[in-house]
Amino acid sequence: MEQHIVIGFGGIYSAYTIQELQKTYSPDVIKLFFIDLFSDVSDEPLYLNNALFMSNVAEKLGVELITPDITLQTDKSIDSNFNENIISKLCAVSEQIKTMYEDLSNIVLHFPIVPKNLNGQNEICIESVENDWADNFEIKSLFEQLLPEVQVQFTIEDLATKVNIKEIIQNEWGIDLPRSERKRVHIAMFSGGAGSAYVSYYMVQAYRKENCKLFFTNTLWEDEDNLRFMDEVSEYIGLEITEILDGRTPEEVFFDMKYLGNSRLAKCSEELKVRQTLIYLEELRDNEKVEPILYFGIAPHEKHRRDDSHVKRRDNIVEENSSDMNIRKAAGIRSFYAHFPLEPIETRFPLIETLREDIDAKGIIKYEWGIELPRMYTAAVEAAKLEDNVLAQKLVAKGINGFSHANCGGRCVRGGFQHYATLYAIWPEQYKEQEDMENRFRDHFNKDVSILKKNGGPYTLKQYREDMESSGVEKFLFQPDDTIPCVCSFS
Ligand code: SF4
Repeated sequence: MEQHIVIGFGGIYSAYTIQELQKTYSPDVIKLFFIDLFSDVSDEPLYLNNALFMSNVAEKLGVELITPDITLQTDKSIDSNFNENIISKLCAVSEQIKTMYEDLSNIVLHFPIVPKNLNGQNEICIESVENDWADNFEIKSLFEQLLPEVQVQFTIEDLATKVNIKEIIQNEWGIDLPRSERKRVHIAMFSGGAGSAYVSYYMVQAYRKENCKLFFTNTLWEDEDNLRFMDEVSEYIGLEITEILDGRTPEEVFFDMKYLGNSRLAKCSEELKVRQTLIYLEELRDNEKVEPILYFGIAPHEKHRRDDSHVKRRDNIVEENSSDMNIRKAAGIRSFYAHFPLEPIETRFPLIETLREDIDAKGIIKYEWGIELPRMYTAAVEAAKLEDNVLAQKLVAKGINGFSHANCGGRCVRGGFQHYATLYAIWPEQYKEQEDMENRFRDHFNKDVSILKKNGGPYTLKQYREDMESSGVEKFLFQPDDTIPCVCSFS
């Protein structure tokens, strides 16, 4: 009796191929072979997710699931355009079949190639992993060499365009789609910075509003003008902000954790931004069955945009060893989202990877969109207009117009000596707020701790202010910090 083997790669077309076969054949003569062509390691999340999907499909449709032993290999020499990995896995399939069946002339292999007429139809077959990996001719040619006796068929080749396979699997069969087949939702990490505003705009242009979100984690220390800026950008782009709140301020986090944030360890960032983001993304996956892709507004530093590395970056993007600190930061963020969430989350850095030409995001936002930048970017310029603020005037003369990042109203605990000297010179009231916060923590827990460190020990903002007042602020204003830069400005 004819035996039908569906070669499944973990996607929806293998599943639907079985359904089509069952219109003609009994489940007893159909088997599903699962071989993941795209993940090499059997404990990696993508593999596990595809394997789970295949197992759910086999159970739902009542067919036997077989996972071929990929160590089985042929001794024939193979002539094929496929890469070695694919050849090796398809060889394993053919060897497994030989161990299972004596009469190979009864075997029909069914390959789930995306029907050409469904290619590019977003709701139906968006970004399927099975999409375009091979054409029918190449598969037939390979199996003529491996198993010349078997028939090779492409059962859903002429599937009608009105068939929405994803909907059928999800709604009629009640099976969650594999991660690779879920609808994508493009999420800009909307931080209040100019880079993230520009990337949000780019993302919406590329993927349409209905597939995008502007995501903002509010620490409750944000400068009010940042909120004004974000509202105006959101209105310009035509997409509402999705705002997530932990509900605590950084200070409340420090009290809860009994640990004052500093340049080495900022629990505020972990609790108020990273944790909230991960919870939000997992809920999206669970409740809306979508797959998030995160967009960050990190740009290469000015000097790296202009030199040769702009060209070299083409093939070596977000490289951990890049001489550009921002590109290294992007590599760190990518690695985090690849490893830390329950399943890896794709990250994109359009200002580094996609938009090759120099983008003057601040200029575009200000002059083309007509939106004033957050005042934190121009705080020194504003302060310099006041006649008695000589320090602000000196900052502007050196090309420092404001704060380098616009988060937490200048009170970032990851800031170093130069950052706090700038805060003292431009916004002394904010400096005072932070000094008071530090004192409250020290008094409450009776601990000699501080945001800044000097000679490896505590050095309070009060001491620093007194030193600046006695030695002159200028001495501290132009010495670059060697602290680890804050990534909150991108998240
Ligand atoms: S910007 Fe600085 S203070 Fe604010 S949450 Fe991030 S690390 Fe903490």
